[in-house]
Amino acid sequence: MRIATGNIGHESSTFTPIATPYEAFTESSRGFHRGAQVLEALRDTNSGCGGFIDGAEAHGFELAPLLWTFAEPSAPIQAGAWAQLKDEFLQRLEAAMPVDGALLDLHGAAVVEGIDDGEGDLLAGVRSILGPERPVIVTLDLHANISDAMARLADVLIPCDTYPHVDFRERGREAADLMVRTLRGEIRPTMAVERLPLLWAGGNATGGAVFDAIVAQAHALEAQPGVLTASVNPGFAWADIHDAGATVVVTTDGDPARARREARAYADAIFARRRHFLVDLVEFDEVLAAAARNPARPVVVADGQDNPGGGAPGDSTGMLRAFVQHGLTDALVLTICDPATVQRAQAAGHGAEVEVEIGGKSAPEQGPPLRARAVVENLCNLEFVIRGPMYTGMTQKFGPSALLRIGGVRVAAASNRLQLFSLECPRALGIEPTRLQWIGVKSSTHFRAAYDPIAGQVHRAAFPSVQSHDPRKLTYRNLRRPIFPLDPIEARPAPPR
Ligand SMILES: [Zn+2]
Repeated sequence: MRIATGNIGHESSTFTPIATPYEAFTESSRGFHRGAQVLEALRDTNSGCGGFIDGAEAHGFELAPLLWTFAEPSAPIQAGAWAQLKDEFLQRLEAAMPVDGALLDLHGAAVVEGIDDGEGDLLAGVRSILGPERPVIVTLDLHANISDAMARLADVLIPCDTYPHVDFRERGREAADLMVRTLRGEIRPTMAVERLPLLWAGGNATGGAVFDAIVAQAHALEAQPGVLTASVNPGFAWADIHDAGATVVVTTDGDPARARREARAYADAIFARRRHFLVDLVEFDEVLAAAARNPARPVVVADGQDNPGGGAPGDSTGMLRAFVQHGLTDALVLTICDPATVQRAQAAGHGAEVEVEIGGKSAPEQGPPLRARAVVENLCNLEFVIRGPMYTGMTQKFGPSALLRIGGVRVAAASNRLQLFSLECPRALGIEPTRLQWIGVKSSTHFRAAYDPIAGQVHRAAFPSVQSHDPRKLTYRNLRRPIFPLDPIEARPAPPR
């Protein structure tokens, strides 16, 4: 048994000014690996491919690695970059033939300039080489916008079940098990994808009662005989494409009518709770009031609307300005993407006091740069292997970085735009996060995997950004309508027969 594997990963925001050229993949912190390098780089990592490798070793099948890369979320992939990546991926698949099937760990929310459905486009190419019979099983991020083409071209889609996403490796293992059982003729997967008229931007973290109950419903379905896998996919709301938004996926063993029936019932149950999925951020004044009432420290504040992990520029100044203006002490902001400020700090040198204009350079909506006198406390190449539960074993490369101190507030200016979700980041800067009073992070939810265990309290706050978490504040032109919460839908429309 020989199974092709690979990924061209991207979560594309149509609301961000950050471009996505070919180099966004080749120079990505998450990696660009070809052939045998794929297995070396992803073995023992908490990724879908890490789970495929576990499955291959357990079942004794061979993986034929093609190309694996994942660019940081940003604007739709430039057309020429996509053509080059896809051509290499498919050429490698042709060269790897004959294979018995494909296990891919795609994201599911890739948009390409001129192509709304990146994964559908890639899967069409994969199918043209594999033919209609060989199984194609795909793990996805929970923020996948699943298209009809993806549903038609893959035999099984398995979105992850957790947010923060700490089960990629488990889902990869699940996919590998289904692949082996399918090829042995033990099962015949039949999948139904049901799309909801729902842009689901808030209220979807593991540990929240409603989200946990919804995921538990999928697990209860999976426990029934004849159901192979079931998942909810909130989708990625920051893509102005027809198919953005929530879906559910149910795969049965040889019973397409039951898959459809179960998927519709599950979708109805989720849609009935749609008001829970509205934006759930607080104003900074409320954070201050809560912290005054509750002495538990550190206070972790998330600027989720400027989350680079969702495509935002990562240089919004709202949170840093609030920390400085309120005279917070023992405070740290991680991180602001600003290579020019890093260079200015490097020129001034370690220990120097320097006039800086931090952040606010990508777009006016990100707020103006913060002008301040700062002490350069550390200059380094900020790079580390993640030990926490998210993307365990993978490397984050923030690049040349400067730790600056403005009064009682420290801020790390970094050259690369990355989401903050590990404790290794402050520790690599020489700061022990558990001893801080205040920690500000550029992350929506993923930080919680590592920071909830050390936090006295956690607040997700609203600061200015190009990517509001309230879809009603964004302008959509291509999205299907009606859709909640942009339109007042009282009941899920009956599906076409
Ligand atoms: Zn995600």
